[in-house]
Order: sequence, then structure tokens, then C-alpha cells
Amino acid sequence: MINYLFQEKNWQSQLSDLITDPFELISCLNLSPDDLNSQALLAHQQFKLRVPRQFVQKMQIGNAYDPLFLQVFPHHLEMQENSEFSLDPLGERDANALPGMLHKYKSRILMTLTGACAIHCRYCFRRHFPYQENLPKDKDWLAIKPYILAHPDINEIILSGGDPLSISNEKLAKWVGYFEQLPQIKTLRIHTRLPVVIPQRIDDALLHILSSSRLNNIMVVHSNHANELDSNFDTAMQKLIQHDVTIFNQSVLLKGINDNYVSLTELSYRLFQARVLPYYLHVLDKVSGASHFLISDQKAQNIYQDLLKELPGYLMPKLVREIHGEQHKTPLNIY
Ligand code: SF4
Repeated sequence: MINYLFQEKNWQSQLSDLITDPFELISCLNLSPDDLNSQALLAHQQFKLRVPRQFVQKMQIGNAYDPLFLQVFPHHLEMQENSEFSLDPLGERDANALPGMLHKYKSRILMTLTGACAIHCRYCFRRHFPYQENLPKDKDWLAIKPYILAHPDINEIILSGGDPLSISNEKLAKWVGYFEQLPQIKTLRIHTRLPVVIPQRIDDALLHILSSSRLNNIMVVHSNHANELDSNFDTAMQKLIQHDVTIFNQSVLLKGINDNYVSLTELSYRLFQARVLPYYLHVLDKVSGASHFLISDQKAQNIYQDLLKELPGYLMPKLVREIHGEQHKTPLNIY
């Protein structure tokens, strides 16, 4: 336990007190500065380290292979060129119908209300996303609203990353109010890592916004390893459930972090303890800078087959890949 590292504060204070200096992080964990060579520092310049102190507190001191540490620490291998990896692996620029709005799937649109995240995950497929051109302002609603009306199949709004819960409750309430104006919108889905890394984000004001909305509320949290989850997370999930929010988890299959059935079995059981159901297990999206996290499809299939033997069906995430241009996630053939 690193007592000096973190004392529980409200989520806003925690968000404004992230660790953003790689040297501070390795010092907190008693790791060697040798891990920070010039290439690693260049990777940090391109995609800055950001990690909440509360998340760091769950890392093991002295362990450079800690599965939480590896998710956030800039690595020199990020600077390796790999022609299979690109800045926009999912072709999201083609789906960017309006500023701040992606329309990839028939019945859902995705909004990027912010480019900010509490944590920078080194494997993030949006690490090069042009957020500055995609932060919808109030006036943009004047274009988004008729777009939705012109597409009557759209019945769900997805708020995604950046992390939509990094914005204020006031701003969130305003956008939820906009979506509620449209009778065709039935569901609001929030994709977020904040309840994992700063569980205090599930505060009374947020619960009020969600529970007073006429929309069906879904929250998809994002956790890759059981070590990320603690009693604060359980409390946050309990509050959401008490306010009629349906909760799922999605994970990314990451080399050196969770690429074995034991870790993933533990994660599914730990999520269930918090009453969260596993939803997707994504194979890595081939984004520049993340090639060192890739495992082969064959290995993913083997892990999944082992998982099937370990877990009851209701705790099995779907093993999927997102393919540019497809109108849905594509399940991996597991045999
Ligand atoms: S959008 Fe999600 S996965 Fe990407 S850096 Fe932010 S929290 Fe991590």
C-alpha cells in the first residue's frame, strides 16, 4: 500500500492531480530509470503519460512487469515502425459524419464529447484521433439533431472516448437533455474507464442525471485485469445498479498483460463479484505505437478455448475484432 501516493479525494481533485511525469511514476514504484530510454521518452512526448494515483496504488512496487503498469508506461517499442499498424486502424475518419459524431453502425451513433481521459492506455485505438476537430459544441447540435431525425433507424447514442465521464455533470446533463428531445432515441450507452480508475466519479449528481432520464442507461466499463478492481469499484457499480443502470465490461487482449486464460478467468469472476457482466474481449486494433501488445489470432483462439472450459457461459465475453467498413464487430472463429 502506497499511503503517501493517494488519499481519497473527490473525483475532480483526483483528475487534476494525475501522475503525468514518467520519472515520478517509476520513482513511486521503486523502478529503475533505465526503463526510460530516449525512445520511451519520445513515445511519452507523442502520447503523454496520464494515470490516476489511485490506479498506481494498485500496482506492485518494484515490478516492471506489473499488468497495470504496462498498460500506462511509455515503452520504447512504441516507436518501432510497423506497416500493418496505422493512425486510424478502424477508418473512423470515414465514419465522421459531423464534428463529434461517428455513424458506423445502423442503429447507433457515437459521440466524442471530449478528447480527455483520466488515464492514457498505451494500446488505445484512438490515440491519434483528431479530437480537436471533434469536440461538438452547442451549435453543432443544430446539425446533429436533423441528422438523427433523417436516420430513423438510429435509436441509441453511445458516448465514447476520450472518456465521456471526464466532462462535468452539468455538460453531461445538457447533452442527455438534447438526446431526450428525440423520441426515436431509446438508449444512452456510456463507454468509460473512469469508474475503474477513479470510482468516485459515480457521484450523486451523475446518478441523478441517469436515473431521472427517460432513456435506458447502459454503462460499458473498461477493465483488462482483475487487479484493477477493488471495493471502491464495487461500491460504484452497486450505486449504478441501484439506479437502474445496466453494466457490462469490455477488455482488450494484450500481450504481457492478460494474454492467458488464468488472468481472464479471474477478471470475469471479479467483475461478476461487482455484478458486472463481461461483454467484449477485443483483439488489438492495429494502431501505430501499440504493436508490442499484439498476440496472434491462433493464441487468442487458444486462450478463448481454455476460457470456455473454465467459465460458465454467462461470464464469457465475446471474442471480437473491429474491421474497417464492417457494420458490426466481427466474432473471431475460435476453432
Ligand atoms: S479512450 Fe479509453 S482506452 Fe483510450 S486512452 Fe482513453 S480511457 Fe484509455
